[in-house]
Amino acid sequence: MADVVLQCYKHRQTIMRKRLRIPHFIMHTALCLAFIHGPVLAQPTTSAEAQRIIDHVRVLASDSCQGRGPGSGGIEKAAAYVMEQFKSIGVRPAGRASFGDPFTMTTGVKLAEPNSVSFSVVIERPGVPVDQTRPITVGWKLGADYQPYGFSETGSAKGEVVFAGYGLSTSSYDDYSGVDVKGKVVILLRGLPGWADADQTLRQLATVRSKTTIARDKGAVAVIFVNKNGDSADVLSRFGLDRLGKYSGILALQARRSTCAKVFPPKGTSLFVAETDIEKTKKPRSFQLANVTANVAVALAFEESTTSNIIGMIEGTDPTLKNEYVVVGAHYDHIGMGDENSLAASNEPAIHHGADDNASGTAGIIELSRAVAASPLKRSVLFMAFSGEEKGLLGSKHWVTTPTVPLDKVTAMINLDMIGRLKDGKLNIQGVGTSSRWPAVIDSAKKGLPLTITTTADGFGPSDHSSFTGKGIPVLFFFTGLHGDYHRPSDTWDKVNAEGQVTVLSMVERAMRIIGDAPDRPEFAKGADKPASTQSSSMALKVTFGVVPDYSDDPQGLHITGVKPGSPAEKGGLQADDIITAMGQTTIKNIYDLMAALGSFKPGDTTTVKVIRDEKPLSLNVTFTGK
Ligand SMILES: [Zn+2]
Repeated sequence: MADVVLQCYKHRQTIMRKRLRIPHFIMHTALCLAFIHGPVLAQPTTSAEAQRIIDHVRVLASDSCQGRGPGSGGIEKAAAYVMEQFKSIGVRPAGRASFGDPFTMTTGVKLAEPNSVSFSVVIERPGVPVDQTRPITVGWKLGADYQPYGFSETGSAKGEVVFAGYGLSTSSYDDYSGVDVKGKVVILLRGLPGWADADQTLRQLATVRSKTTIARDKGAVAVIFVNKNGDSADVLSRFGLDRLGKYSGILALQARRSTCAKVFPPKGTSLFVAETDIEKTKKPRSFQLANVTANVAVALAFEESTTSNIIGMIEGTDPTLKNEYVVVGAHYDHIGMGDENSLAASNEPAIHHGADDNASGTAGIIELSRAVAASPLKRSVLFMAFSGEEKGLLGSKHWVTTPTVPLDKVTAMINLDMIGRLKDGKLNIQGVGTSSRWPAVIDSAKKGLPLTITTTADGFGPSDHSSFTGKGIPVLFFFTGLHGDYHRPSDTWDKVNAEGQVTVLSMVERAMRIIGDAPDRPEFAKGADKPASTQSSSMALKVTFGVVPDYSDDPQGLHITGVKPGSPAEKGGLQADDIITAMGQTTIKNIYDLMAALGSFKPGDTTTVKVIRDEKPLSLNVTFTGK
């Protein structure tokens, strides 16, 4: 997830942004960066609980679990281990099929057939009319010269070629002014010119996805991205899924700069000169490549797999309160051999062990279930190991959409994600603003423990608790911080601070017992289901809209799960479950399209928003207000 509720998935933006792969949703980044710390080597464990934690982590982060990528054999081994532990502890199955709560998800994308790119270039020769000059064909090699983006459409296109600078289009700076790209193939530079870095509006449009939306809506049939001149000019970014939207509505690929520069006719302006001009003049420098035609074919195949949340329960002791539930959750999936979320330096497949992320949290819920089995609470406790978190909180979203117990009986959700690298006693707790009861709970739960607590109010953000916040359930998210091994193969068991984790779990257990045994349930704080991060994420937007997007892909458009009371969207008549297909001139296929469209409006503007409701198209008028 501005008024478009953008969930940001734990600090990936921070890192990704360094590679400029994903938009600038930075809310949690500052918080996480505060937690960056160097590797800690596994201290000798003294307590039996610490030893058990290390044992769990060693199994879950072992090579045989293969980095627990959904759809892999490795995650099935991890699932079996968690179920086995639950069984041995006496946790009762509470899934749909025993402990399992299966769901299907897109786990990957791969190249299918045909994928090809070639150019027909007429090299002008003095005295020979162009139409009598035989064109030469330049073919590009898949994987070597270029590769499609995982959000590209599948199909083929042929067209003349236009260089359109950085592909930006605003009232103040427009790379598309003076060029017509309808039915043509567009070449664009990634990123921004140096002088534009401080421009919020241009920064918002600097992502590959926003530029793709603009090129598509300008009528281009394909878009080819190249890096700016510099050290990484020829680096192709990792091929993989874009979890925030696999449908873009256009053929999209990236090419090595040196390869792409060669299709610019020798007589015309070169890529290097065009880029330098933009840098110097701060003006667009777009033009059609003379006598050049491109043939582009892209074929992708999405991999769907069934994976499972693992759900167990320990029933409460109180005859009434046992019908209410405290959810204690942790995701047990990780990124397997390294997918689009990997931060490894090399693109080579390698086991991403995910010891801290999140074998530590999974070990945590196993050990908490042991404590509760020994001394149950008044309320019942549901222990949930989620899958699909790394691909967009898919497991927790699946559960809150089709819960195995009535959602209104869930009194609170405690989420453990990366609790294995406690350093100097620093522990971050997020979601504290989702119930007025939380500050007191935290104060009493931390008493006497060697912990330095920092808190964050927002109940949205870095992990599965977001799915529960969106449903108005108070959440607490425990997290020991980011580190240099995050989303790399080097996140291994030997760096887990097991004794530190025992301390963290003592605090979690106390908080869980306070919640589980209290006569009345914690109130959900009004407004806490509207993430603060919307503001930060849509800093450059001048208007508010007020919808809650759903990130599971819908080929028709952007499905929304909610509308903010009193917002322009609500006043315009939008409703939860609508599928937005267009806003003004912009076709809406995903969150990026919506951001790009919203960026073009100012307060007081009215536009038409097209939606599909109950399979029928509907046209609504929305008047935007300021932020
Ligand atoms: Zn995680």
